[in-house]
Amino acid sequence: MELNHEVLGIEKKDGDYLVKTTSGDYLAQAVILAFGKTPRKLDIEGADKFLGKGLSYCATCDGPFFRGKNIAVVGGGNSALGGALYLAELGQKVYLIHRRDAFRGEEVLVDKIKAKENIEMVLNSVPSALEGAEVLEKIKVKDVNTGLEREIAIDGLFIEIGYEVKADFVKSLVNLDAGNQIIVDQDGKTSADGIFAAGDLTQIPYKQIAIAVGQGAVAALSAYDYIQKKSGKPTVKIDWGEKK
Ligand SMILES: Cc1cc2nc3c(=O)[nH]c(=O)nc-3n(C[C@H](O)[C@H](O)[C@H](O)COP(=O)(O)OP(=O)(O)OC[C@H]3O[C@@H](n4cnc5c(N)ncnc54)[C@H](O)[C@@H]3O)c2cc1C
Repeated sequence: MELNHEVLGIEKKDGDYLVKTTSGDYLAQAVILAFGKTPRKLDIEGADKFLGKGLSYCATCDGPFFRGKNIAVVGGGNSALGGALYLAELGQKVYLIHRRDAFRGEEVLVDKIKAKENIEMVLNSVPSALEGAEVLEKIKVKDVNTGLEREIAIDGLFIEIGYEVKADFVKSLVNLDAGNQIIVDQDGKTSADGIFAAGDLTQIPYKQIAIAVGQGAVAALSAYDYIQKKSGKPTVKIDWGEKK
C-alpha cells in the first residue's frame, strides 16, 4: 500500500473488510486501526505560523525546551492544570489562561495551582492573537466580560484544550467509550472480529510513543493469529501461563 493516503471509510464485505482510501479500495482479512488522536486546535490567527516555534500541543513532550522561560498555558481541565504545574517546575513564570472564572479540573490540582507562586491565573480570558517575528514572542488575551485586551510576553505557549479521536468513520463497526476512544482488550481486539486497534486512539491511558509501539506489536500479532485461524492454520499464540 502506498503511503500518504487517507482512509475514508471501512465496510464489511463477505467476512472481510473493504478499506476505502483516497488511493483506492483495499480488501483486508484484518484491519489494525492506529490513526491516533488529534489535538483540539486553537482557532486564532498565528496558531499555524507558530506551531513548533513556541506553540505546542503537548506540555510533557515540549516543556523541557522552555526551561527558565516565560510560558502560557491555555485550558481549564486536568490536562491544562497538570501541564501548568509541570511547566512551573521548568519555567520562570507560567500564565494559566482560562475562559471561565473557575477551572474544570480536580480540586486537588486547583489547590496546587493556587499555591504555586510562579503561576498567574488569567481567568475569564481567551487568547485573541499571537505575535512574533520568527518565533512566538507575545500573546494577546481578551477579558470575556470587559472586552479589554492585555499583552503578555512569552516564549512558549501550550494549548491544553483536549484531544479528540476522530472515529466517526468506524463508529458503526467498533465500540467506543464516552470519549470516542476505541475500546480494546489486552490483545488489541476491538468489539468487531478482525478489527484491532493500537495507540493513542484506544482507551488505554498514558499516551506515549513506547506505549503505542507496544500496543502496535500486540495488535499485529493478534491480527496475524486471527488470519491464521481464519485460514484454518494453527494458532501462533503461545499460552505462557499454561501448566506443564
Ligand atoms: C507535540 C507532541 C509531542 C510529543 N512528544 C512525545 C515524546 O517526546 N515522547 C513520547 O513518548 N510521546 C510524545 N507524544 C505522544 C506521542 O506522539 C503519541 O503517544 C504517539 O505518537 C501515538 O502514536 P499513534 O500511532 O497512536 O498515533 P499518531 O502518532 O498520532 O499516528 C497516527 C497517524 O495516523 C494518521 N491518520 C489519522 N487519520 C488518518 C486517516 N483517516 N487515514 C490515514 N491516516 C490517518 C495521522 O496522520 C498519523 O500519522 C507527543 C505528542 C505530541 C502531540
